[in-house]
Amino acid sequence: TATMSARDVCKTFHRSNGWFAKPSETRALQGVSFDVEPKEIFGIVGESGCGKSTLARVLVGLENQDSGSLSLGGRKLFGPGMADVPPVKRGIQMVFQDPYASLNPRMQVGEAIAEGLAISGMARSEREDRVAETLSLVGLSPDAAQKHPFQFSGGQRQRICIARALVMEPEFLVADEAVSALDISVQMQILNMLLDLRDRIGLSIIFITHDISVVEYLCDTVMVMYGGKAVERGKTADVLDNP
Ligand code: ADP
Ligand code: ADP
Repeated sequence: TATMSARDVCKTFHRSNGWFAKPSETRALQGVSFDVEPKEIFGIVGESGCGKSTLARVLVGLENQDSGSLSLGGRKLFGPGMADVPPVKRGIQMVFQDPYASLNPRMQVGEAIAEGLAISGMARSEREDRVAETLSLVGLSPDAAQKHPFQFSGGQRQRICIARALVMEPEFLVADEAVSALDISVQMQILNMLLDLRDRIGLSIIFITHDISVVEYLCDTVMVMYGGKAVERGKTADVLDNP
């Protein structure tokens, strides 16, 4: 388990706007810095368009930053004068908002969960063991591996997506609005599962949401973003007490 440190992360999107209009740019991240301790659940909140998803994508390596640095336990993942560490080697996995869109309907659940392991060359029997262990970690039975995504509810599908991330044994899970598409009772089940995973396997979590009540329930610390900047950061109780 390791501390994550982000320093001065910047990202600007350039848009051409076609032949006739002037090109425009959006400064999505303007010097964002934070630290997340091992086993911490770190919330990122802010209104739509403030840069939360861009930050998440930069952390896992789905998007390239323009500048800044990121390290995990002293290991640099990107920064001045170095090539970026590719997503699978970062020890950071991501879960997205929509569990329906995130799973290939043609793939069996076990196959989907094991995809990353297969790519990294792990033998089939070992993959099957890992999938069974990981399914139990997210509260699903082993026979889920032979089923298809359409046979599961939204909450169960999100558990499958979380299993697909955990099977790679990340130190950090980045969840981007991971409960927003679910019924409120199912949201609670997933949040409780994340709290349990933190305690059982020492998982550290970055949880992006627009929902303050979720932050209050789940997060030890929180960072508030506005217009691509971190405008506040601290213990959840302190930040939420100071509107
Ligand atoms: P949030 O997740 O907080 O809603 P985003 O990170 O999605 O915010 O977006 C931050 C800003 O960057 C927004 O103004 C958005 O329109 C812009 N943006 C995000 N992704 C792209 C992209 N691929 N191309 C151009 N602009 C983008
Ligand atoms: P033990 O030391 O008894 O294996 P652990 O706490 O390391 O206990 O893990 C318990 C179970 O969770 C094991 O099956 C392990 O493979 C699995 N596990 C631990 N950490 C992770 C992780 N980050 N992602 C996926 N599975 C994990």
